[in-house]
Amino acid sequence: MAFTNRVFSGIKPSGDLHLGNYLGAIRRFVPLQQQYECIYCVVDMHAITVWQDPADLRRRTYEIAAAYIAAGVDPKNHIIFNQSQVAEHAELAWVFNCVARMGWMARMTQFKDKAGKNSENVSLGLFAYPSLMAADILLYKATHVPVGEDQKQHLELARDIAAKFNHDFAPSIAANGYGEEFFPQPEPVITGPATRVMSLRDGTKKMSKSESGSDMATIYLMDDADTITRKIKKAKTDADALPSEAKGLENRAEAANLVGIYAALSDRSVEAVLAEFGGQGFGTFKPALAELAVSVLGPQAAEMRRLVADPGEIEAILRQGADRARELAARTMTEVHDIVGFIR
Ligand code: ATP
Ligand code: MG
Repeated sequence: MAFTNRVFSGIKPSGDLHLGNYLGAIRRFVPLQQQYECIYCVVDMHAITVWQDPADLRRRTYEIAAAYIAAGVDPKNHIIFNQSQVAEHAELAWVFNCVARMGWMARMTQFKDKAGKNSENVSLGLFAYPSLMAADILLYKATHVPVGEDQKQHLELARDIAAKFNHDFAPSIAANGYGEEFFPQPEPVITGPATRVMSLRDGTKKMSKSESGSDMATIYLMDDADTITRKIKKAKTDADALPSEAKGLENRAEAANLVGIYAALSDRSVEAVLAEFGGQGFGTFKPALAELAVSVLGPQAAEMRRLVADPGEIEAILRQGADRARELAARTMTEVHDIVGFIR
């Protein structure tokens, strides 16, 4: 069966949005609208896999919706909503909890990283997280998922869940007239530079909402121009000049990170950036990067501030988005009920 090309992606309101979320996800959401029907979600149910203060959760949910809109996601022709408004996400996730295997979840590096030595004390939700993520995507039979590099493994798991569901229920899928393949195999869309933005203080650590280490390590989307400039100028680097070719960035994690950020912010390739800056030191490159970052992030933050100042507009967008998402989700769940053998 041919699936309609559809994009799904989401961000958790688990902390303040940062440059990694912007370059790895939000900014990439925008051009996909030309080619696909897009569903962009604020995944609040994923956020509570670790403790969230309710007031912060609400504020951050608005903030992420505002970030989508400010970046250029069109809520009229596409869908923006928050996950918990569409109960079918939890419902399909339960079915997937019964399809996925414990061993699959136990192999997830994100779980191992986030649980650390504390794995007996983290929530059950944190362990089952990839199963809910598979439900988010497959509820809409989405075919393409723009994410940062760190989500690649979860997406492979979503593909495994889809394949196992299709296989285990094959006779029932056919008997109900739902074709041969019920769920598509969703493809990750991980392209371009800066698919994994690293901490400004440690080129081996991913920039993250939940574990920033030090404030100087992370550029937040709501940082003002002075703060962005200060963080970039203080970013850890080596003492060498920039190379003229990408190969010269091997084993220079911090340099590679800054060049990748420059490339992504200017919609150019790493090669093009090095062709311009090769041979120059960070004394020249950092101010150029700071200026570029401020020119891109400044207007984005200003528009986000305008939107969150009057949440009425965002509330309406989320409500309408949820209504449209629910319609699609309910259709899939009806079919899943038939396939699994739930009476409706
Ligand atoms: P948390 O620390 O709570 O997991 P996070 O910063 O990793 O937060 P998520 O909500 O887990 O953010 O991820 C949202 C999107 O941002 C995903 O597509 C993810 O791949 C992307 N993303 C997160 N961090 C980075 C990063 N450092 N570089 C590129 N993309 C990133
Ligand atoms: Mg994450």
